[in-house]
Amino acid sequence: MIDPYGRRITYVRVSVTDRCDLRCIYCMAEDMTFLPKREVLSLEELERLCVAFIELGVKKIRLTGGEPLVRRNIMSLIEGLGTRIGEGGLEELTLTTNGTQLARMAEDLARNGVRRINVSLDTLDPERFRQATRWGDIRQVIDGIMAAKAAGLHIKINMVALRGLNEDEFDRMLAWCGQHGFDLCLIETMPMGEIEEDRRDRFLSLDVVRARLRLRWTLKETSYRTGGPARYYEVAETGTRLGFITPLSHNFCESCNRVRVTCTGKMYMCLGQEDSADLRTPLRAGLGDEALKQAILEAISRKPKGHDFVAERLHQAAVPRHMSVTGG
Ligand code: SAM
Ligand code: SF4
Repeated sequence: MIDPYGRRITYVRVSVTDRCDLRCIYCMAEDMTFLPKREVLSLEELERLCVAFIELGVKKIRLTGGEPLVRRNIMSLIEGLGTRIGEGGLEELTLTTNGTQLARMAEDLARNGVRRINVSLDTLDPERFRQATRWGDIRQVIDGIMAAKAAGLHIKINMVALRGLNEDEFDRMLAWCGQHGFDLCLIETMPMGEIEEDRRDRFLSLDVVRARLRLRWTLKETSYRTGGPARYYEVAETGTRLGFITPLSHNFCESCNRVRVTCTGKMYMCLGQEDSADLRTPLRAGLGDEALKQAILEAISRKPKGHDFVAERLHQAAVPRHMSVTGG
């Protein structure tokens, strides 16, 4: 699949649910209304959809949400997709999780072919964690991360940089990740969906954060890429990597190789644009997989050049949907 700007699309992020057991302040409003079940694709429909993408040349699938691991029976989808890893199929099956369910699921993930996972953790402080997630218990997440490490999964910690919440914790988080062999990826807040706060109050430019980190750590530029938008450095002191995702201070659209699908089967060609394609109708129309593939290809032909996130406009949601709808 090649889009109008010559970019090869080999990566799909699939949001398997809009629900979550946490309510991170930058991601969701406290009283979120979730989708009615009938609108959400069944696990069988999600698998059919993923297989169509694989047959069209997708090499990497990331399951996300909401919280992917709170979806009932999610392991059956992971097991099904796990069988597609290998020659001519998927190169990687991975997921982004808040870690709360990992203690009981990490081994099954590893058994089904998952090798790397991203775990979101914005702070190491229990009180701040509760504040950031509105009611989360950090112990559960740390136990989950350690279970994933024990199961042999490679772990990358995602940390959203938030002024007034974790701006004094980057050194500590990097040291902790180094100690456990985890990579760390810092993320700028993105203007997605209405939340209670004004995002400008929380925005921290990662250019500033990187300059501060350089006072203490030796960061060597690398060409390492994971297929995502992060730019990576090697941290000489720890031997681990440090990535930066900077949609606002630097846009990363020129190398974009991915599309996203929501749990209702809406395909978004860009995280920061509203145009979407409905894949649920061809999925449920009983027309077979050719019609579904045609709908995917037609959507790819409409992939826009880039997003319009601008730091000055952070107070308005650039797109009305929350990150938990499209998946991070
Ligand atoms: N629940 C899972 C988790 O938290 O990892 C997966 C879904 S979550 C929406 C995916 C990632 O998006 C998380 O790392 C989260 O921190 C990030 N995220 C959510 N809302 C964001 C926003 N407005 N700006 C930047 N990152 C955001
Ligand atoms: Fe849930 Fe992830 Fe959003 Fe936090 S960032 S509320 S864990 S979906």
